[in-house]
Amino acid sequence: MATDYAGAVRSGTAAAGRLQRELGIRDLIEVHGGCVDIFDAIRMLDVPLMLRPLKGLLGAYLSAPVPGILVTTERPMSIQRFTAAHELGHCILQHEPSLDDESVLRRMPNSPEPSGKFQEAEADAFAVALMIPKWLIAAHCRRQDWTTADLAHPHIAYQLSLRMGASYEATCRTFERYRLLPGPTVRRLIDAQPRVMKSALLRDYKPVNYRGDVWHLTERDAGSRIDGSRNDTFVLSLKEHGASGFVWDFNDLVSSGFAIVCDVRESADPNTVGGTAIRRVTAVSDDIPRGTVALEERRPWLPSQPLSQISLDVDLSGPEQSGLSRAERRHLLQVV
Ligand SMILES: [Zn+2]
Repeated sequence: MATDYAGAVRSGTAAAGRLQRELGIRDLIEVHGGCVDIFDAIRMLDVPLMLRPLKGLLGAYLSAPVPGILVTTERPMSIQRFTAAHELGHCILQHEPSLDDESVLRRMPNSPEPSGKFQEAEADAFAVALMIPKWLIAAHCRRQDWTTADLAHPHIAYQLSLRMGASYEATCRTFERYRLLPGPTVRRLIDAQPRVMKSALLRDYKPVNYRGDVWHLTERDAGSRIDGSRNDTFVLSLKEHGASGFVWDFNDLVSSGFAIVCDVRESADPNTVGGTAIRRVTAVSDDIPRGTVALEERRPWLPSQPLSQISLDVDLSGPEQSGLSRAERRHLLQVV
């Protein structure tokens, strides 16, 4: 157990790195994109997990009769994931039992702990390093062709947060922690409201509320895992070669549980006529979209090979509900 704050951060971070190596998490994400699946890590480690409504608590770690984790069902998925990672930290670092309320999300560095053992700081450092490691930010930046300077744009920081399954604010804070951006830039980012970014992406489409997330997806997300929640919206921007007769077919999107609420073509280059266009489709979840969504750019009247194709591995069934976690359900479906 750490005896000072800096030691707690070091040991929590190191334990998260060890776990990522043991479970092969980095290799998986380098290929499939997406986030560190905290609930799947808990499943692979065989740590008992209970998801249920919790009064006044986000989660808990209990050590008797056997170590186990409790996580509330009454918070958005990014909070559930951070809480689960924090409780897993308590478990792996063999801490005393812990009941964790909202202070988990707002704890300041060096906050005094009644035990004097820095176990909360250690579990927090574990959770951040497990969920939002620096290599994960780098992997998404490579895939999306974002530079470090691009991260200072709120809409890019927001899209990165969705792909990492972390809250917008937690994502921005890591930019300072990893010295990617200076403190004042990060504070300006945190002041930006995700609602404004969502509304800018949705343009004329007005959702019932702005609680759901808005994913801006392009060819760069091909083959990725999109792990979101029931009221999320997709805005797809895809290059389309209409002058050669190729158009994108979004039927699979509709059969996967989406409703298309906006579909427009915009000139990719305003100086050219008749060349490539950007097909911009806004799709809201109609059912609970889950599974592989395959999109193809083809000539509708010719059964020829598509010019381009994109598949997305979509699961918009979050947040976690009472009972088995989504990772446990997915695993059970695979082994049946
Ligand atoms: Zn705790």
